[in-house]
Amino acid sequence: MTFRFVPVADGVHVLREPLLDVNVTLVVGDGAALLVDTLSTAGQAGALATAARAVTPYPWTLVNTHHHFDHCFGNATLAADPPRPVYAHERAAAALRDRTDRLRRAAYEEMRADHPALAAELAGTTLLAPTHTVHTETVLDVGGRRVVLRHPGHGHTDADLVVHVPDADVLVTGDLVEQSGPPAFEESYPLQWPDAVAELLRMTTPATVVVPGHGTPVDVEFVRAQHARLAELAWLIRAAHTGGAPPERVAADSPFGARPGLTAARRGYRELDGAP
Ligand SMILES: [Zn+2]
Repeated sequence: MTFRFVPVADGVHVLREPLLDVNVTLVVGDGAALLVDTLSTAGQAGALATAARAVTPYPWTLVNTHHHFDHCFGNATLAADPPRPVYAHERAAAALRDRTDRLRRAAYEEMRADHPALAAELAGTTLLAPTHTVHTETVLDVGGRRVVLRHPGHGHTDADLVVHVPDADVLVTGDLVEQSGPPAFEESYPLQWPDAVAELLRMTTPATVVVPGHGTPVDVEFVRAQHARLAELAWLIRAAHTGGAPPERVAADSPFGARPGLTAARRGYRELDGAP
């Protein structure tokens, strides 16, 4: 397994893992570096470490954009020996500390049918919980570069973090923005997701390079279009719920297709029905 980082802005590099199309972002400062997300397994994270070492010799700090396996199961390989700081939202950190068996089992179940070899590896992966938590915002100094970690509200999960590198005009969004497929709604808050993306748009300029959770980097127009579709979907969910229609009705009109639409509608109905 050989991975390679590609520069997307001054001192900012992106690696695209080919199996699930996951992006890892490397920010290089003066004497220090930052890695955003750590991929799925020890094997992937080892290849990621090699790729990062081809770009910079500096020690890294890690960030997990959220607690889904493809963004954080490589933590132990990259931050256990020598120990390195790992940042995540406080709820993602709690999940990686207290719900490790559940996360491993969910990852296994999700990958079992399409990627059985990966599923088997995921089931045996050692997880490493984040060492530093973010509530709303934390500002890091990465070798003289200001990097902002921000929780823009509930969206893809209740624990998403985005990483803003203002001096390079780069915004790393995790799975709040998706390029290579529709957004994933399984653990989402579809009624609040549009507001979270609106918050991201407020952090951009017309020239911002946006690194999505999966797929190729995109521009602000792409994010605007995704925001509009998320807002349309949220509206469909509210209207159908108010009218007493079943979630299947939302799926039929979903701007992201029927299956994601149905998952989103069920999540939205749960929220509107006051489920915890
Ligand atoms: Zn995710």
